Amino acid sequence: MTAVDDVKARLDIVDVVSQRVPLQRSGNSYKANCPFHQEKTPSFHVFPDRQSWRCFGACATGGDVLSFVMRAEGLEFGDALRQMAQQAGVTLPQRGQNPQNQVAHKINEDTRAYFQRTLASAQGSSTREYLEQRGLDKQAIEAFGIGLSPSDGESLKNHLVREGYSQEELASAGVVRAGDDNVNHDLFRGRLMFPIRDAHGNLVGFGARSLDGSEPKYLNSPQGALFDKSRLLYGMDRARTDVRKEGAVIVEGYMDAIAAHQAGFKNVVAQMGTALTEFQVDEIRRLTGKMTMALDQDAAGQAATLRSLDVVLDNFRTKTVSNQGSSSTAEADPRIIVMPPGQDPDEVIHRSPSDWTKLVESAIPAVTFRINAITSQGDTTSPEGKAKCVAEAAPFIHLLGSGIQQANAVELLANNLDVPIDTVKAALSRPSVARRARRPEQQRPAASTASPFARLDHDPMEEHCLQLLLGFPDLREAADGLRSEFFQRHENKEVFTRWLDAGPGMGKDETLAAVRRNGDDAVTGQLDLLSEKPLIALDATKRVASFLEVVSRLEERNLRSLKSEEVIRFAESPPDIEDGEHDDILRLNQQFKKNEGLRRGQAQEISG
Ligand SMILES: [Zn+2]
Repeated sequence: MTAVDDVKARLDIVDVVSQRVPLQRSGNSYKANCPFHQEKTPSFHVFPDRQSWRCFGACATGGDVLSFVMRAEGLEFGDALRQMAQQAGVTLPQRGQNPQNQVAHKINEDTRAYFQRTLASAQGSSTREYLEQRGLDKQAIEAFGIGLSPSDGESLKNHLVREGYSQEELASAGVVRAGDDNVNHDLFRGRLMFPIRDAHGNLVGFGARSLDGSEPKYLNSPQGALFDKSRLLYGMDRARTDVRKEGAVIVEGYMDAIAAHQAGFKNVVAQMGTALTEFQVDEIRRLTGKMTMALDQDAAGQAATLRSLDVVLDNFRTKTVSNQGSSSTAEADPRIIVMPPGQDPDEVIHRSPSDWTKLVESAIPAVTFRINAITSQGDTTSPEGKAKCVAEAAPFIHLLGSGIQQANAVELLANNLDVPIDTVKAALSRPSVARRARRPEQQRPAASTASPFARLDHDPMEEHCLQLLLGFPDLREAADGLRSEFFQRHENKEVFTRWLDAGPGMGKDETLAAVRRNGDDAVTGQLDLLSEKPLIALDATKRVASFLEVVSRLEERNLRSLKSEEVIRFAESPPDIEDGEHDDILRLNQQFKKNEGLRRGQAQEISG
């Protein structure tokens, strides 16, 4: 039995949930007003037989005892497991600092010092001028450890080898890379160097800006166990305390964040050149209910920005802030600053700190921005187009609960569509509108309910699926339909989520390193198990077919579990049934049929 199973087996989900939410018995299940969204009639159910929970309302999510604690307390999987292990009296395997990482942190610190000396030397004179032009003062340059990488491609490596590091250590820290000649060279050459620290202050890598116009403009340390872009926010190690006090402001560039800190705005952090991830949003949400994103005018309407925003809206509101152990629900208030055309935050801050303050104060609610994006990009002339806009906006409006914020959002939507407020309200009040709009895109961990293997250590289907994914990077495309909620075992779900985060374009070993990260025993143990299990050799075509088969089986299992929960709930709470909700069962049934048909088709292809 794994530690996760052990913890789960010793806890009763009804006890754990009722410590946080007053539960009311209802036949074979318990119900309550959902703790994750505002509502007047209970749609949050706990199923003791299955040791699972589900919200049949706006959240449309569910899971097991650990996923409940993760959501309720705003914790990561590892932290939720530790908290529950303590409550269950289970001792978890000790989690220690990985010695390999300690060496890498030290190499990074030596590298930073070397880059700083290079910047201060004669070699760095034009770069120092550049920094002065960009308005950075000596203190800020020193505080953020900004440096310059020598352009010859050898100096840093030679220096670090003299310091006693091996070539392997340098390569795994990511400061050198083997060239075509199979010899290691400095990865960063003639670039402005920004040391990047994790939230605890460990130096995990570098961001490097080109100074001579060479591409790419920004180059980062290689993505891997040590440096994981999806989990970092630039400047968080320095901003933490002020974020807790004043809320977070998120800017796009390193220079923007440094300029802000220099001017005394110490609650500013920068994105890592990618869309915000759920993990980053969670990290902020654990500290504060207030976050403001500064968006570039050009980027504001683009799909990538809207996706970032959806991650924020989806995760920020529904989570609670946990403050030094005790948890409280602070009003979530995500906001957007759209920058004046052609201006970056660092320019505004250098020119006039008070203009920046005004911009931050005039930030608009993220949901207003999102609704405007929907109606400005959708068809608002035909009745069908208007209905589609309402359906698209519905999930965001439902997340607002029933207060003044929601009333404002409804009014805005009605105005933009040029229809009476009551018409929009009527359309929104059908629960199926919210759910139909929302479920197809559900990407977040949801169902994690009793599987036929729940009492075993293994789930062969999930393991087979992960073995294929980890062993064959080219299956990533075929994995389009695979979602984390199909995995019922936590360690498998976590492996899959990390594999998703790792993103495409990496080889097998790089992906494995990104998934492995460090010191997390539940996942490390699972990875070892997966790599030891034999895998039947197949040619590429058969492998894709076998993979699609297992994905479809996992999906079907997930649908079955959703359906049985819905059936229990409908049987036991008939007064809650509204007309539109029958559609959900119908839809599930249709999905079943489609899925079975697909599988039959694939089976024929394989045998034929
Ligand atoms: Zn809910």
